[in-house]
Amino acid sequence: MAASSAFDLLITGGIVACCDEKGTAHAKGAVGIKDGRIAWVGDAEKLPADAAAAATVDAAGKLLAPGLVNAHCHLADSLFRGLVEDLELEDWLQVLWRAEGTILNEETNLLGARLGLAELALSGVTTVLDMFWFPETAAQATKKIGLRMMTGGFAFDLDGADGMPAADRLKHAEAFIERYKDDELVTPNAMVHGAYTSGTASMKAMHELAQAHGCNFHIHAAETRKENETVLAQHGARVVPLLEKLGMLGPDTLLAHAIHLDDADLKMVADSGTAVVHNPVSNLKLGSGFARVPEMLARGIPVGLGTDGAVSGNDIDMWLALRLAATMHRAVANKAGALSSKEALRMATLGSAQAMGMAAEIGSIETGKRADLMLLDLERPHAVPLFDPHSHLVYSACKGDVEDVWVGGRPVVAKGQLVNDDLGEILEQTRRLQPQVLASINGGD
Ligand SMILES: [Zn+2]
Repeated sequence: MAASSAFDLLITGGIVACCDEKGTAHAKGAVGIKDGRIAWVGDAEKLPADAAAAATVDAAGKLLAPGLVNAHCHLADSLFRGLVEDLELEDWLQVLWRAEGTILNEETNLLGARLGLAELALSGVTTVLDMFWFPETAAQATKKIGLRMMTGGFAFDLDGADGMPAADRLKHAEAFIERYKDDELVTPNAMVHGAYTSGTASMKAMHELAQAHGCNFHIHAAETRKENETVLAQHGARVVPLLEKLGMLGPDTLLAHAIHLDDADLKMVADSGTAVVHNPVSNLKLGSGFARVPEMLARGIPVGLGTDGAVSGNDIDMWLALRLAATMHRAVANKAGALSSKEALRMATLGSAQAMGMAAEIGSIETGKRADLMLLDLERPHAVPLFDPHSHLVYSACKGDVEDVWVGGRPVVAKGQLVNDDLGEILEQTRRLQPQVLASINGGD
C-alpha cells in the first residue's frame, strides 16, 4: 500500500462483527480507517503486506462491532432518573413535566445532556436521536463528547419546559436546521412531540418543514391505548390514520413506539415506507403494551431500537433494550422463532440507522461508512466460549464490556474512560442539583 493511502488508524487482530446485511464476521479481522471512514475491512492476514498506519490498536482477545444506534431518547431527562415511579404514562407525564418546568434551563439542560451522553458513550452508543427542550445544548454537549446526534426543534402546543411560545416552535426548528445542516456530528431533523400535544396545524407545518429541508421527521405515535382514544375524540381518527390523513407518513417519517396499531394501521405504515423505533424497556416499565415488532419486520417496516429517556427506564442502556427486543416478542408469540437474534441486532445498528435515514453512513462496518466503532473486552466469564459474535452481542455482551469507542475514527472512550468530557464533574454537578429536583415535585424547596 502506498504511503499516501496509509490508514490513520488500524484496529487489528480481534473478532470483527460487521453487522452488515450478510452478517459478515472475521475471526481475526482488521479495520483500517482513513479520514474518519472505514477504508478497509477483512481478515487481518489479507491486509496488504505494506499496509501502513499512523496508529495501530491491537484488538486480540476483543470484539470490534459498529457502535450502537439509539433511535429514540430524551437525554436531559437523565436528571430526573428514578424521580417518578409506578404511574401510567399520562399521570406520569404530568408529574415529570412539572419537574422539567421547574428545573430546566439552558444550563441544567446542558448538564442533563452531558450526563445522558456520557452514559451512552461509555456503553458503546455512537449515534443518538434526541427529542428534548433546548436542542442547542444537546448539540453543544454532543460536539464536546464526540458522539453523532440527530435532533432539532419540535412542535408542542402546550406549555413547554423551555417556556417557548408554541407559535415560535416552527421558526425555532427551522433555525436549528439552518444552523446544523452542514455539521459533521449533528444531523438536524424536525419533530412533533405527539398528536395529543399538538394541533393538526402545528403538526402539518413541522412535517412540511422536514420535507422542505430533506430532513427526517420524528413523532411519538400510538404509545398507549389512551393516546389513541384522546386523538380519536379530538380529531375523529386514531393516531396512525390521522397521520395518514394529514400526509405525514412516508419513508422520512419515524414513529416512536407505535404500539397500539391495528391491522389497517400496520398496513398504512408498511405501504407508506414509514419507520418505527421500538423502545421495549420504556414500554414494559410504563405498562404501555407490546409493539407488534415481528409483524412489522415481516411486512418490511424498517424498525430501529431506542431506550427512550432515563425516566421511563431509569438508565439508557441499549444492551438491555436489545436483549429485551430479542426475547420478549418470543414470549408474546409463544414462539422462539418469532424474531431472530440477527433481526434484533439489526434493530440496534443498521435498522436504527435506516429508520433515521442514515444507513448509507452508519450502522455497520463496511468500507466507505463512517468509522463509528466499539471494542468489547472478551476476557469475561460471560464471553467464553464464543461461537457466534453476532449472537454474543445480543445475548451475552453488556455495557460493562465496552472498552473503546470511536466516532468518525476519533476516540470518544478509551480504556473505559471518556476522552473528551469530564465524568467526575458531570456527576458532581448532577448530585448538587438533586435536592432541587426532588423539591420540584414536592412543591417546595
Ligand atoms: Zn419518548
